[in-house]
Amino acid sequence: MNDDKAECGKLSTLLQQLGQDLDQYLQFDYPDAMQNASRWHQALEQPLPEEGIGIQNVMAEMGRHLIPNGSPIPHPGCTAFITTGTTSIGALANLASAVAAPQRMSLTAFNFLEELSLQWMVEMFELPPEMKGLYSSGGSIANIVALGAARQQTFEQRLGIDPGKEGIQHPCRIYATEASHHTIHRAAAVLGLGRNAVITIASDTIGRMSTEALQRQLEVDASTPFVPVAIVANAGTTSTGTIDPLRKIGEIAHHYSIWFHIDGAYGLPGILDPQIHHLYDGLSLADSVIVDPHKWLGAPVGIGATFVRDRNILQRAFTQEATDYLEGSMTNNDIQHSMDNLGVPYSDFGLELSAPSRGAVVWALIREIGKTGLRERVCRHNAMARHIAKRAHAHPNLEVVQEPTLSICCFRYITNEWANLNELNQRIHRQLVHNNRNIPSTALVRGILAIRPCFIGARTTWQHANDLVDEVIDIGQNITNRKNHK
Ligand SMILES: *Cc1c(COP(=O)(O)O)cnc(C)c1O
Repeated sequence: MNDDKAECGKLSTLLQQLGQDLDQYLQFDYPDAMQNASRWHQALEQPLPEEGIGIQNVMAEMGRHLIPNGSPIPHPGCTAFITTGTTSIGALANLASAVAAPQRMSLTAFNFLEELSLQWMVEMFELPPEMKGLYSSGGSIANIVALGAARQQTFEQRLGIDPGKEGIQHPCRIYATEASHHTIHRAAAVLGLGRNAVITIASDTIGRMSTEALQRQLEVDASTPFVPVAIVANAGTTSTGTIDPLRKIGEIAHHYSIWFHIDGAYGLPGILDPQIHHLYDGLSLADSVIVDPHKWLGAPVGIGATFVRDRNILQRAFTQEATDYLEGSMTNNDIQHSMDNLGVPYSDFGLELSAPSRGAVVWALIREIGKTGLRERVCRHNAMARHIAKRAHAHPNLEVVQEPTLSICCFRYITNEWANLNELNQRIHRQLVHNNRNIPSTALVRGILAIRPCFIGARTTWQHANDLVDEVIDIGQNITNRKNHK
């Protein structure tokens, strides 16, 4: 007899109900959440319930007020973010983990898949084969973990200091371009280096790091007290999908004995596209690499991964001071129960103690479609970006702002009837968003405001890519005609 008020079972019935509501949502025939905001505010804004309403009523409220007023991100025409709606198996494996293995530790099948799925990614994305990984909540934390490893190794080797233990009292440098993700700056702040430690290296006309500028800066810094903690290269910048010259940067990093970090949160899976595979040359020189399975792999948000050559560095950087484990301390050969050993000590390699079993989700995503399925997705999305560029080149009122490298195409509407094209394209973008069919973002590329679709979602089809271009042309013509008739 369980006195708890919460339902703890009946999942087969409840999931059927939830599945119907979610399938309905995935028809995307609801208006945007803001259209009905007053209604759902009113329904949901309840005082703290003294008494619960029971699971059936909660399920009903979810189906009526919550799910229909969700996010446009999973919509196949939404290309604004690099995160996307999860595929079905991603959602299901997430749920399976939540129910059957709430922690990644101990010798369960889930714990096994944590390591196996990380190894699969090492192989699939052609990382140095000795690399080992660690899951975290996303690219932000994955970058902190990687740069924490960089800090640890740098201080140990250059100064004989354990920075994880002693803290740091030295001014530091992290070398990155302007296009680097700002989580690099936040990582520098969190790791005690300070955001100012991130120094901007000039880039070429398409945003790739200038290796001459990098080398000049390193020469200047060599005669200063700055400790060079890491050089950060991008394998796919967030705004334009640009890939830095990895081999050249890696060789410079090795020459100066500086940690070489590659941020592939978005772009690492691009290596599967034979047309751009060569741009990843130099990946083998990396000391750390990150990738976000919650981007191109289609995982639900909350899954990033860091890879390093030696996880012992992570352990020294992030371990908690020794505790007396009550569970999982068995080290002899007498392991007969999943609780006899905690398995790989992931919680000592990063920032999280309690953490979900994310590996099972990544395993399921890869197991479902295989490397071939992921390659097809990546190639399709990259081809969509190139197709948009081709259409833009062919149309008198469109202009390619930057040729695509990956699945991002930055383009804009042009006409000599409008003086401020940034303002015009901003207006076109607002109209696109309000129309609620094709929702790209904008990006400022060397001062030019571009319309920026990033094709990443498994639901997005060629039709959506073409519709976006058609709609931009329509809206652009409408806005400029309206002005002429005034
Ligand atoms: C998305 C992204 C990040 C941040 O990842 P989150 O998962 O959003 O925390 C970091 N770097 C790059 C290049 C990205 O595209």
